[in-house]
Amino acid sequence: MDIAHLTGWSALAITVGAIIFRAGYRMGRDDALSFGEEPERHQETSYTFRGLNFLLSDEPDKAIEAFTNVVRINSETVEIHLSLGNLFRSRGEVGRAIRIHQNLIARPSLSDAYRKAALYALGEDYRQGGFVDRAIDSFRRVLELDPNHRKALAGLQALHENEGRWDIALDILKRLVKVTGEEDPRREAHLLIKIGLEQARTLGEGDDHPGIDWFRKAIRVYPGCVEAFRLLGEAQLSQNKVKGAIQTFATLKKNRPSHFFMLMEPLKRAYIEQGDLGGFEECMRNAVNAPSASPRLIVLWSRELQSRNRTREAVDVLLKGYSKYPGSVVMARLLVRLLGHLNREEEALGVAVRCLDHLLSRQPGFQCSQCGFQSQDIYWKCPQCHRWDAMEPM
Ligand SMILES: [Zn+2]
Repeated sequence: MDIAHLTGWSALAITVGAIIFRAGYRMGRDDALSFGEEPERHQETSYTFRGLNFLLSDEPDKAIEAFTNVVRINSETVEIHLSLGNLFRSRGEVGRAIRIHQNLIARPSLSDAYRKAALYALGEDYRQGGFVDRAIDSFRRVLELDPNHRKALAGLQALHENEGRWDIALDILKRLVKVTGEEDPRREAHLLIKIGLEQARTLGEGDDHPGIDWFRKAIRVYPGCVEAFRLLGEAQLSQNKVKGAIQTFATLKKNRPSHFFMLMEPLKRAYIEQGDLGGFEECMRNAVNAPSASPRLIVLWSRELQSRNRTREAVDVLLKGYSKYPGSVVMARLLVRLLGHLNREEEALGVAVRCLDHLLSRQPGFQCSQCGFQSQDIYWKCPQCHRWDAMEPM
């Protein structure tokens, strides 16, 4: 399910909720009326329920038609206007959604709660229509009425992030975290990095690299942030603080071993700068022999050994790693190639067959031609879409 669907469905859920509430209220009132006293009210209720039924049977166009009739009979209904606007937006008719929500906001008698809802909806309309400044303005007006409005804060945060206004995006993120109590350290760390990079660009990377403090902050917030370690180490290298850089790169080995391979190249550069290629080799050997060594790290180190004409050692490292990760295609490919170089064709063939066997054991045998459901065995009735006899062998 894609994002457009999700927003569509959440809009639908809100709409249905608001209308059920209103319809229930309306029914209670209608019961109290004597027959024939207000036929229009009965009509209104009937259209409301019809619209609701269309919504639930996923016929938004007919729902829009029914709700438009409700609005024609009773132009005061704020909930139906709000719902209609949201429906138009979910159908991609942003212009109509904007008009409806703007008209609501223009009502002087509108309560604060409804004003808030209409302003938020208008912000969403603008956002979907690509009117960024107006969307920001609408969300800000919601926050004037309710500084802790989660969805307006989240909307505003996302907009500033998309616009590359990292400092504002970070401020709003902190507000959002306070309101929701849900930390988002990965996002926060990357916003800190962006601010650091921006400062380094505008202030220049002199003796006092302005990014360094920001990269350190990012690491404190999220100790597994690869990019912060990379940038911090590179900044230290640019300041000739080679020992510090090596320590920075090596810390990631502990904090996030799965991604350590991404820093192998700058780590090598740092050791070369220090004139200590032996130190690099020792560091890499430790990393490759650790239980946490990732397939990519093993492959990179093997390539490094091969480039130094130490193919036999490279093969040993790969064979050991491959026994741990028999499903790693990158590892198998390199191993087959290097074994070929060493004229060990039979072993190469063994590795290739083992890898193919492993891949095949994980590959589903059948796929539903209707919904794409995959499985090892054939089902005559698809467990996902319930069609009969729709599964084809892959
Ligand atoms: Zn199916």
